[in-house]
Amino acid sequence: MPVHHPCDTPASASSSPQPGAVSPDWAAIAHELEIADERAFNMAWVAVDRHVAAGRGARIAFRFLAEDGSHHEVSYRQLAELSDRFANALTALGVGKGDSVFLLCGRRCELYVTVLGALKIGAVVSPLFPVFGPEPIRNRVAQAGGKVLVTTASAYRRKVAPIRAELPTLRHVLVIDDLGGAPLPEMHDWNTLMAAASAAPVLVPTAADDPALLHFTSGTTGTPKGALHVHQAILMHYATARRALDLQPGDIFWCTADPGWVTGMSYGILAPLAVGVTSIVDEAEFDALRWVATLAAERINVWYTAPTAVRMLMKARPALVAGRSFPALRFIASVGEPLNAEAVRWGMATFGRPIHDTWWQTETGGIMIANAAGELKPGAMGRPVPGVAAHVVRRAGEPKGTVEIIEAPDTVGELALETGWPSMFRAYLGQPERYRACFAGPLYLSGDLVRRDADGFFWFVGRSDDVIKSAGHLIGPFEVERVLMAHPAVAEAGVIGKPDPLAGESIKAFVTLKRDVEASEALRAELLAHARRSLGPAVAPREIAFAEALPHTRSGKIMRRLLKARELGLPEGDSSTLE
Ligand code: ATP
Ligand code: MG
Repeated sequence: MPVHHPCDTPASASSSPQPGAVSPDWAAIAHELEIADERAFNMAWVAVDRHVAAGRGARIAFRFLAEDGSHHEVSYRQLAELSDRFANALTALGVGKGDSVFLLCGRRCELYVTVLGALKIGAVVSPLFPVFGPEPIRNRVAQAGGKVLVTTASAYRRKVAPIRAELPTLRHVLVIDDLGGAPLPEMHDWNTLMAAASAAPVLVPTAADDPALLHFTSGTTGTPKGALHVHQAILMHYATARRALDLQPGDIFWCTADPGWVTGMSYGILAPLAVGVTSIVDEAEFDALRWVATLAAERINVWYTAPTAVRMLMKARPALVAGRSFPALRFIASVGEPLNAEAVRWGMATFGRPIHDTWWQTETGGIMIANAAGELKPGAMGRPVPGVAAHVVRRAGEPKGTVEIIEAPDTVGELALETGWPSMFRAYLGQPERYRACFAGPLYLSGDLVRRDADGFFWFVGRSDDVIKSAGHLIGPFEVERVLMAHPAVAEAGVIGKPDPLAGESIKAFVTLKRDVEASEALRAELLAHARRSLGPAVAPREIAFAEALPHTRSGKIMRRLLKARELGLPEGDSSTLE
């Protein structure tokens, strides 16, 4: 089944923005991006070719850091030419508009060329985490009716060859490194195709609302969903990169997310290119010392990372940064999970800059809520970015499917966003009912519980699926985790509810400890007392277990559903995205 243009988009946004929300003029942003005609409403053109057309082709787009310490660079002009070639190579294979192109490889130049070339011909790009095993690959390619897969020879042999027979729509596999031995049928050498392809600029017209990207959610709460995004999402990527990440043309930027996760695509590829910055791409995996050295040596100006990485760096202790300084570092931001106030302050103490939390989802396609430069509240998610109107709502029982907006500050409810921002998802792949159920009139319902304070800052409470009901209280796990992580011995905490005959649910916490801290009964008692002091007996955990590590998704999120399933001896459900 090919990825179809969705036809069940809900009613467009209400035209009356929430008081205080400055509505950016999307037409003005399109103008800023030199989008003059329909054809130019192609993400890849906006990201790359327009810089070349405007004389900025010599600027470095990506600087790739290889594991062995070597590096190489690609300019905007080279990227435009390479992606034209790749677009022509796809066309020669009979791949066209609406066909889906999957990627399964590390963060190397060919990945970036593939993404941009496929976008240029109106194909729908779907990146996979390179560490995925055969099942998550099979499942995603089959769901989308993937026609092309770009991968490496070793990934093909180990992960794709065993399931190839189950993927009848997969017509072409393009291998970006040495094929080694005789090519299999319908397997192509990426470099040979590129060498044979025409270098002519590509002119396939794509409209603002044509599908461009298919991203699978992280799978934190269940089976990952495929969220479809359109070309005009780049307006949001650009606007939020400027306003929420403080990204300025000419900056050196490091988004540490892999493109297999929506953050790595929206802010690792499209947003920085749209702004015209140089992105650092580290081909190696996380390593605390390497990361700190990279921040200093590459003179990074803006760094966009995730709380798990921050927690791992915090766990490694201050020796990490000894003797280094970061004079170029202007702005640090994070996304994916709540960022506790200690982490924000640790950023200040370690790098001389606080860490700015931002909130968004695969479905929103871009940052919705952020602590912008100069207006930060440690521990809060921030305020809606310009052009986004956010509300706290309660789902009303009657009439079914309606919601009530909660105006009072500091009241917990579901985070809802007025529809109509350009990067809003347009479908859940193969699940139109589920897609429709995300909307109540002009509001998109996020599934996250929040409260908004009197200053308009949103605070994360938990996912509605994770909320614990204990002795008449509704408890967001993060409330408890935040307190545990404020203790100097704790590196990370995951909190779940366990069935309890009296309370309904009782709270259990799993904690990992900082390096050099020993688990002991005395520490357990101290943590229990610390939690009770801060939270009160009703909300404090009744049990604390020490763990070596907590289960995470590939995008770095704590999987509470797995902690719960393991604790209760239940089936683990979909764990294909487990780290
Ligand atoms: P799935 O939808 O498959 O369960 P997922 O929701 O984790 O997975 P993503 O779209 O990658 O998939 O993550 C979005 C979610 O991550 C948000 O809905 C929210 O729960 C959480 N999140 C993202 N940023 C923040 C943040 N700054 N603070 C708290 N939570 C955040
Ligand atoms: Mg989700």
